[in-house]
Amino acid sequence: MVIDYFVRNENEASLVKRADELAIILSQRAEKHDIEGSFPFDNFADLKKAGYLKLTVPKKYGGEEISLYELLLVQERLARGDGSTALAVGWHLGLVHHYRHTLTWPEPLFAQFCHKVVQDGAMINHFSSERGTGSPTRGGKPETVAIRVDGGWSITGRKTFSTLSPILDQFIVSAYIEESDEVGLFYVQKQEGVSIEETWNTLGMRATGSHDLLLHQVFVPQEGFIRKKTEQKRDGDGWLLHIPACYLGIAFAARDYALAFARSYQPNSLTVPIAEVSHIQQQIGLVEESLMTARTLLYSVADRWDSQPELRLTLQPELGLAKKVATNQAIQVVDLAMRIVGGSSLSKSLPLERWYRDVRAGLHNPPMDDSVMKLLARRAIEEDR
Ligand SMILES: Cc1cc2nc3c(=O)[nH]c(=O)nc-3n(C[C@H](O)[C@H](O)[C@H](O)COP(=O)(O)OP(=O)(O)OC[C@H]3O[C@@H](n4cnc5c(N)ncnc54)[C@H](O)[C@@H]3O)c2cc1C
Repeated sequence: MVIDYFVRNENEASLVKRADELAIILSQRAEKHDIEGSFPFDNFADLKKAGYLKLTVPKKYGGEEISLYELLLVQERLARGDGSTALAVGWHLGLVHHYRHTLTWPEPLFAQFCHKVVQDGAMINHFSSERGTGSPTRGGKPETVAIRVDGGWSITGRKTFSTLSPILDQFIVSAYIEESDEVGLFYVQKQEGVSIEETWNTLGMRATGSHDLLLHQVFVPQEGFIRKKTEQKRDGDGWLLHIPACYLGIAFAARDYALAFARSYQPNSLTVPIAEVSHIQQQIGLVEESLMTARTLLYSVADRWDSQPELRLTLQPELGLAKKVATNQAIQVVDLAMRIVGGSSLSKSLPLERWYRDVRAGLHNPPMDDSVMKLLARRAIEEDR
């Protein structure tokens, strides 16, 4: 019996159990979707059936209103089954969690959307990356434009890395508003003028459906104008911790695989399984060190975010650090797991090489390592003033 010390009570244990059950189902399809680069509609049907898509929806709208800490627990478990599906659904769950806390949407629109999540399994994502701007976190101006028209807005542009795009009927896009020289966030419903170009053919996270999304004179009624980007109520972006939770889940799967292998593999040059050999134990020790360090930081920051709302804005450097440490340690863990397993870890018939590719993507999800370093440095420098 393995005890996860980060699971603190019965409610969390029950959430984790639900995620574990789903992870088993997802893991059976992960190889297929990875090879095909296909979008896992079957996984999302199962997540919907299990009520997973409404976990972060407020209770008053029929959801489970889980905390940030709980969100990380379930996402980490789900990712042990399939990283792509976990990352993709993580954007949806994380964003709903974020909107719930920051009240950034006009309330009638948020209420309506939440009911759609609960009743129909609707999902959302935020598309802000573009070829011309790169990561939106670096402050580039969108080339997607919003022009005011009768009763609302007309939006034209192209978004890259549009995770979940094959399944979404609505999404948020950022667009430049020339008349006021500002960036606005718009709630767009799938309609004529919205199309997907299937550009997502990547090394890892191949089943996230992160294609290019094209918008050609797409109409958004005035009610769909969420707000100007500068007016966003900031909460330190705690919700982005769904990202490190996902990559730690992938690393955990690799760890468990390597441990099972080390316990059972006994080449005829040895009288004991390789788990008893000292250099393998060194590597296992390093795996444990990486995971314990990353998980301790991740869950302690999440707990502070949950329990001290007044500190949320100031927690941004810690939140970023938790992401940086987790994603880099996750890469290290999968690498070590492959060293433990040896040459057969390269085999396409084993999951290790997929985890090795998937885990690499964590470096390119926000906040990127260089931004985290900048945040930490800026705070340290300003501390003395
Ligand atoms: C699996 C996956 C899923 C994703 N899902 C989504 C999604 O759902 N929605 C979404 O909007 N995005 C999504 N993204 C995109 C992601 O958020 C980034 O926009 C994307 O990875 C590009 O980031 P980048 O840092 O590599 O690109 P860039 O910002 O273009 O950076 C490329 C290089 O240039 C350097 N650089 C760029 N600008 C500057 C600057 N101003 N100063 C100094 N150096 C600079 C960077 O350090 C880096 O080395 C996803 C990405 C991945 C990998």
